[in-house]
Amino acid sequence: MTPLNYDAVIVGAGIVGAACAAECARAGMRVAVIEAGIIGGGATAAGMGHIVVMDDSEAQFALTRYSQILWNELAAELPADCEFETCGTIWVAADEEEMTEVRRKKIYFEEHGVAAEILDARALADAEPNLRPGLAGGLRVPGDSAIYPPCAARFLIEQARARGADLHQCRNAVELSGRGVRLNDGSFISAGLTVNAAGSWSPELTPGLEVRKPKANLIITKRYPSLVRHQLVELGYLKSAHVLTADSVAFNVQPRRTQQALIGSSRRYGSEDKQVDALILRRMVARACEYMPRLKPLSAIRTWTGFRAATPDKLPLIGPSSGETNVYLATGHEGLGITTSLATATLLADQLLARPPAIPVEPYLPARARQESAHA
Ligand SMILES: Cc1cc2nc3c(=O)[nH]c(=O)nc-3n(C[C@H](O)[C@H](O)[C@H](O)COP(=O)(O)OP(=O)(O)OC[C@H]3O[C@@H](n4cnc5c(N)ncnc54)[C@H](O)[C@@H]3O)c2cc1C
Repeated sequence: MTPLNYDAVIVGAGIVGAACAAECARAGMRVAVIEAGIIGGGATAAGMGHIVVMDDSEAQFALTRYSQILWNELAAELPADCEFETCGTIWVAADEEEMTEVRRKKIYFEEHGVAAEILDARALADAEPNLRPGLAGGLRVPGDSAIYPPCAARFLIEQARARGADLHQCRNAVELSGRGVRLNDGSFISAGLTVNAAGSWSPELTPGLEVRKPKANLIITKRYPSLVRHQLVELGYLKSAHVLTADSVAFNVQPRRTQQALIGSSRRYGSEDKQVDALILRRMVARACEYMPRLKPLSAIRTWTGFRAATPDKLPLIGPSSGETNVYLATGHEGLGITTSLATATLLADQLLARPPAIPVEPYLPARARQESAHA
């Protein structure tokens, strides 16, 4: 019999594959990572890097909260270029209806051990003087943070390599099975198991995977000191992020350590090219200026696009693929893959090594999609 080269081959060195490699190597597995491009060069490079606790569902809360705790534990080890900042989030409420949601979220977070503070109109203006007057208030979640994702992915790969993992970069996986991965040069890397962490490309290696690619546009400004202090997100974001077909934009601004402001966010379905969408960009800028008029005369230095990997229920796929034994998935993280990468890696390694998980894994198992379609 041919000896196995590795215990696990992971395809993709985005933040998710990098985190999986670091965690599996830490657990003593012999790991290889295959990356077609540069480390963190996919959605990870495009993302905002907001590490945020979300409560759209119990499963989403459990994963985001668990992962946030893991990021906080790692924070002291992160190099300066990862730009980890506990800036906090303010969910901005435009009117009384949205204040009702503020109050609901506050109760939910408090019951689940997450600090949160209701801001009335005046407290919101004090916290973020560049927001327009007349907003109803908001919810400040001080424990949320921001990070520069591609450097964080590089750091995690370095951690994996320090523990013996091999990185095969600029190599394209063309076929993935439970026995290993075939590369575009015809070579085969054999392993006891494989992990598809190829983000929005994951259906190319695991046909039939229900992962769509909503496109996003982002803008970054020049350096403007004291423009914005917290990650500011309109509560309407929650509504637009749930829309699975129509294009949507929402006010979402992040302060960077460089004193730049990163402006999101948008979702566009059915557009596969990487071109910046002028119309969507115009809508995003208009929305951002509506909430923060101070942005109007300022200059942007760069715009770009990225693709989220969206599953039908917006929860990631973490665990055995339904198609083939010894093929695992770590994909489908939509707009939360930076936040949830560390928890994903830990939950995956828990399954591979039969360790008890810190949170129930069932909501994220790929098999759930099969069960749902069987009951439909
Ligand atoms: C505009 C935007 C804003 C976002 N903002 C946030 C945010 O604020 N907070 C948050 O938590 N999340 C955010 N996200 C989501 C987050 O960026 C993604 O969920 C996350 O980066 C996904 O990481 P990944 O490793 O799964 O995928 P990717 O980063 O896309 O990595 C996949 C890797 O696989 C490689 N690959 C693909 N196919 C192959 C192959 N055949 N062979 C070898 N290698 C291959 C690619 O080259 C790529 O490097 C945002 C996303 C976008 C687009």
